Amino acid sequence: MKSIREIYKIGRGPSSSHTMGPERACLYMKEKYKRANCFEVTLYGSLAKTGAGHRTDYAIRQTFDRVPCLINKNTEKTDLPHPNTMEIAAIRNGEVLGKETVCSIGGGDIEINGVLFTNDSGEIYPESTFAEIAVFCKEKDVTLSDYVSVHEGADIWNTLGEVWDQMQKTVYAGLHTEGILPGGLGVRRRAMELRAVGKRERNLIKKENYLIAACAYAASEENAAGERMVTAPTCGASGVLPAVLYYEKELFGVDRDEIIQALAVAGLVGQLIKTNASVSGAEAGCQAEIGSACAMAAAALAALHGQGIQQIECAAEMAMEHCLGLTCDPVGGLVQIPCIERNAVAALKAYNAASLAEVVYDNRKVSFDLVVKTMYATGKDLSACYRETADGGLAKLYVKNFD
Ligand code: SF4
Repeated sequence: MKSIREIYKIGRGPSSSHTMGPERACLYMKEKYKRANCFEVTLYGSLAKTGAGHRTDYAIRQTFDRVPCLINKNTEKTDLPHPNTMEIAAIRNGEVLGKETVCSIGGGDIEINGVLFTNDSGEIYPESTFAEIAVFCKEKDVTLSDYVSVHEGADIWNTLGEVWDQMQKTVYAGLHTEGILPGGLGVRRRAMELRAVGKRERNLIKKENYLIAACAYAASEENAAGERMVTAPTCGASGVLPAVLYYEKELFGVDRDEIIQALAVAGLVGQLIKTNASVSGAEAGCQAEIGSACAMAAAALAALHGQGIQQIECAAEMAMEHCLGLTCDPVGGLVQIPCIERNAVAALKAYNAASLAEVVYDNRKVSFDLVVKTMYATGKDLSACYRETADGGLAKLYVKNFD
């Protein structure tokens, strides 16, 4: 199994191929052509057709920062090395210093003139199922986060520290920003309001729900706005895990080291799902994105609350099991409806799963490995119209009912 680093990528939302990949390409050009005082970018294929809705232009301009940048879109050219192709020219005083053709190949990875830029670390874990990992941990008498450290090396804690820092920045920014999200659907940011309502609420159950949901809305709204965030495991599902961790830190003062260890456990759960099934809505529906995020968050919570490996497994299994069948049908191809709300509901569900698992783990009949297998089989059986094609579900039937 590969590194959990693959699960947590820091970059600009809302799309790994339309914003994270282009951002990486622009950073490469800035670094390679330090003398450039202007860049010219031409987007082709899907980047040209859906780039505006996906905030590709915004990601490019924000990355080049103060260096002027001209963006062209060419939807005519079809003879492309990849559906997501872009050309970037570095210019100094009108003279072209260099030009590169970049393919954004998915997951934030890019290829420049045949050279791959990826976070892929190769196979580093000998085990590839939860059952195998549990046996290893029992034999060696180690925790899941120790297990991660053994295989990833001590540097993983620095990586997870950076991940946690960015998650906090993302949630904080979302909690302090109002306005309408870009894309034309007129979706209003609600995180700040939910938090204010949560702080005033006297009913403790409602209060908790509002405050947790506010954190999930915050991170998801930042993603939808094209701001920096962490995939966990994807851009669309990037609000669930930060929400529960941020809430734990704020409310209970959980310390940084504990949260980073919980991130290791959640990363393991995410990587097990990616290895044995999928974390892609386009491949297996939203159960693969939000379901995975929910399982990761439930496992992180169980670890934070001091539960053992069996309880952690049960929490992750229960969270995923009750997301089975979830379809991917984002309205207008934007990661807003139903995605933002769905992140909030999944964060609340993660709490439910972690709490229930603490008690009922010892008589469960379904393993985490089995539910992952089931999710993938269900995803394969889902009609293609429910796998991010915009041909079914809300994406097809949505009509604007309310203002
Ligand atoms: S509906 Fe689709 S795009 Fe939205 S969060 Fe789920 S999988 Fe991602």
